[in-house]
Amino acid sequence: DLPIIYVITPTYARLEQKAELTRLLYTLQHVINLHWIVVEDSETKTQLVTRFLQKSKLSYTHLNVPTPEEYKLAATDPNWLKPRGVLQRNAGLKWLRDNFNPSTGKGVVYFADDDNTYDLLLFEEMRFTRKVSVWPVGLVGYLRYERPVVKDGKVMGWHTYWRPERTFAIDMAGFAINASLLFKRSEAKFSIHVKRGGLESEFLTSLGVTLDDLEPKADGCTKILVWHTRTEKSSLKNEEKMIRKYGQGSDPMIEV
Ligand code: UDP
Ligand code: MN
Repeated sequence: DLPIIYVITPTYARLEQKAELTRLLYTLQHVINLHWIVVEDSETKTQLVTRFLQKSKLSYTHLNVPTPEEYKLAATDPNWLKPRGVLQRNAGLKWLRDNFNPSTGKGVVYFADDDNTYDLLLFEEMRFTRKVSVWPVGLVGYLRYERPVVKDGKVMGWHTYWRPERTFAIDMAGFAINASLLFKRSEAKFSIHVKRGGLESEFLTSLGVTLDDLEPKADGCTKILVWHTRTEKSSLKNEEKMIRKYGQGSDPMIEV
């Protein structure tokens, strides 16, 4: 009975969404005993994501919850100003608390943003997480990588530029938790009101995790198995020009 990996992915409608989800789906399709919890940041479940998941051949749960307007990042805001995907990850946690039985099942929870890049080895590294597994994340924090600093198999601190004194100075992509932890701390969730860089640290703290609980993976946190990639915004500046020059732009009935 291999533990099930529950992957929670917040996602929102934008030009690049289907491309991101397709790449992530094709990664997850290679992982056995995995359940994908996709949580749309929207008032309702969209047709695009609904149809996408129906065709996915994956075990999945489709949820949605909108981020209130005042918590949304404006186009001109720097990306660190407000945390993204918070209510969506919490909806995933609530689904697990309602649907996973820690006395009969074994599970691991991983928060996988839709735009990152995942090595398949990562999923087998996290599979037997007892409490909290941790590993490096590439291309994050304006560094080549961030990582837990490990000595004699224990996490001693953090290789990060930004506030290394945080209790858990780790990106969302850099840890997984045993699903049973959610039931020991039944109120633990992500907070929308955290200061810059505090989202992950305050969540792990709310779960009652200590540095001593962390299990370094990926060869003592020396291997990069996940990258915090970000996708360039696509420009549509030729659509208008196309209409003016040729009388028609792209067919709105064709889903991109
Ligand atoms: N996200 C969301 N709603 C938003 C913005 C982002 O649900 O308004 C999701 C997004 O799809 C991704 C995660 O939250 O899975 C993190 O967002 P993003 O990749 O934009 O953050 P960054 O990598 O820039 O920190
Ligand atoms: Mn991202």
